[in-house]
Amino acid sequence: MTGLYADVIVDISHERVDRPFTYRIPEDLQGKLCVGQAVNVPFGKGDSQRKAYVIGFRDSVDFPPDRIKEITSTADKDLPAEAILLKLAAWMRETYGSTMIAALKTVLPASKRVRSRGKEPLTEEDVKDAEQTIALSEEQKHVVDSIVADYDQGVRKGYLLQGITGSGKTEVYLRLIEEMIRRGKQAIVLIPEIALTWQTLHRFEQRFGDRVTVMNSTLSKGEKFDHFEQARRGEIDVIIGPRSALFTPFQNLGLIIIDEEHEGSYKSETMPKYHARETAEALAGMVPGGASILMGSATPSMEALYRARNGSYGYFRLTRRLTGGTLPSVEITDLREELRAGNRSPFSRSLKQGIEDRLREKEQTMLFINRRGMAGFVSCRSCGRVFKCPHCDVALSAHSGGRLLCHYCGHEEPQPQTCPDCGSRYVSRFRAGTEAIESHVKKLWPEARVLRMDADTTRTKGSYERILKAFASGEADILIGTQMIVKGHDFPRVTLVGILAADLSLNTGDYRAAERTFQLLVQAAGRAGRGKRPGHVVIQTYQPEHYAVRLAAAQDIDSFYEEEIRYRGLLHYPPAAHLLAVQIYSAGEEEGAVCADRLKHLIDREAGRDVAVIGPAPAMIGRINDVYRFGLYLKGEDRGALERLKDTVEESVNSDRENGRMAGITVQFDFDPLRGF
Ligand code: ADP
Ligand code: ZN
Ligand code: ZN
Repeated sequence: MTGLYADVIVDISHERVDRPFTYRIPEDLQGKLCVGQAVNVPFGKGDSQRKAYVIGFRDSVDFPPDRIKEITSTADKDLPAEAILLKLAAWMRETYGSTMIAALKTVLPASKRVRSRGKEPLTEEDVKDAEQTIALSEEQKHVVDSIVADYDQGVRKGYLLQGITGSGKTEVYLRLIEEMIRRGKQAIVLIPEIALTWQTLHRFEQRFGDRVTVMNSTLSKGEKFDHFEQARRGEIDVIIGPRSALFTPFQNLGLIIIDEEHEGSYKSETMPKYHARETAEALAGMVPGGASILMGSATPSMEALYRARNGSYGYFRLTRRLTGGTLPSVEITDLREELRAGNRSPFSRSLKQGIEDRLREKEQTMLFINRRGMAGFVSCRSCGRVFKCPHCDVALSAHSGGRLLCHYCGHEEPQPQTCPDCGSRYVSRFRAGTEAIESHVKKLWPEARVLRMDADTTRTKGSYERILKAFASGEADILIGTQMIVKGHDFPRVTLVGILAADLSLNTGDYRAAERTFQLLVQAAGRAGRGKRPGHVVIQTYQPEHYAVRLAAAQDIDSFYEEEIRYRGLLHYPPAAHLLAVQIYSAGEEEGAVCADRLKHLIDREAGRDVAVIGPAPAMIGRINDVYRFGLYLKGEDRGALERLKDTVEESVNSDRENGRMAGITVQFDFDPLRGF
């Protein structure tokens, strides 16, 4: 699609992406330009010729057309890396909804270079490994050979590599990257924010020397830009980093690896709210020759499993732990029974005994508190009943004034004083923070050396690593922590893992609660018994019969998938269908509600019968920083239909804004959201 005029950005390698400029398209180029096309344009004083990139088209302009300059000519036959990134930004804008500038700022590091360390181009020698190559296991070899064979036959697709930690996934990544480098290709390795241990990093550096570089969140903009420049100049072949590493301007990208692909940090929380997996797929289709994508996880997302099982991804499993050590034994303790037996402490009798044994044997314990569900779900402490919405199968959450509220449909009811099932008066919000647990531990075992890891204790730079290092070197007997302690690290002396409130995250009020809980429990359980001694795991829960708890204890991913996909299919949730969250933020409560209603009517009018519209309802957290939040949910099997509705809403909001009717209101879009809103 083109028009009479093109919007271009000039000088994207500097900080000029702040605004596009409009140029007339000369007759001979009409209909011949596409987004991402490099062109030469007159720019600035004296109209010196500059290279620019087309980012969009228009048929009219708001100012006198005679003041518009004309594009001089097209530049470069081949699409350079940055042109592909512009295309990707355009794709992100269209797919997820946002302004073009926000999309551009996401893919282009708009900052000047700070330093430059030159590197020699790669030689054969760099690629050849020293004799230290370990022989791949049969399973690993199968994965590497299959993907390489596909690649050499021109097949480009996604692959899921499912295997527990220690089963040799990273080794597979390293081999595949070597194969890519041999073919003159480059690789991007995405990792969740804090998952990269120095051991892993060391392995990459050993293999690829200074041809690999690591991007992390502590880098300054300038340093990030410098990494990207190295990639652009072909001085590195591998970049490791969080989801933004996807936008590395490699000239010959061949492989994208997404490690721990189920992690929530692969979804952007700001506009455009893109998912790294989908965006990697779009990028892989845009680069010359195409790229392959390998996703690895011990607990794959429902999305990846869905595609692996329906054949759109290649599907490989690594079934053995190569580092020795056996899978831990897992025990579920029922907190309702503990209460019945008069135990009001946060530790079941079994866990308490286990901790005492470990202290005596000088072995380590990890206590994991599942905090994600702290948003305020209400349950009966005697029978475990969770108060749920009668229309939506999600947990109601407590709001001020003693009300229970459903965030999906707006259903409201008073919070009962007694449990309607068992009559107990112990109906309450669940509260059990890491600090409370720490003080319980110190009271029960004054001699125990305790470390605590949560948002409070990891606020300062380096504290996260410091705590982990201290625990690894045996400076403490017990590590208490939130989700943070579940990731990546190996502690061979840990023989007991206690999961204090396994079902808390089941009640976060969104459709992914069971999936997230299952993943967390499997990963947490996997922390025990990495060394010579066998490990034991105690899962404490009010819902021992829940399939996420039961199947996590059995480490049974297949059965969990079967159960969960049935539920998703029945209720038309992703990955069985698509869900678009329209999120309305407003300075005033009334305006927000009115806007939400208006959008609801607009969507109702435009939506076909195959799209269900739910809401509007106040968001899970109805106000943050004095901004009110409302959500509208659209469900349907055809993602394209949802994207078109998104366009309709976007256009309506933009024209309202131009007419001054959207003061203080922002509308955002989130496709297949990972989190409740
Ligand atoms: P994952 O990424 O699944 O956690 P890794 O690739 O890190 O697994 O492998 C776990 C450990 O096993 C590492 O110490 C690695 O060096 C070792 N390892 C990997 N593959 C092999 C192999 N084929 N033979 C022997 N050791 C291996
Ligand atoms: Zn009850
Ligand atoms: Zn509801």
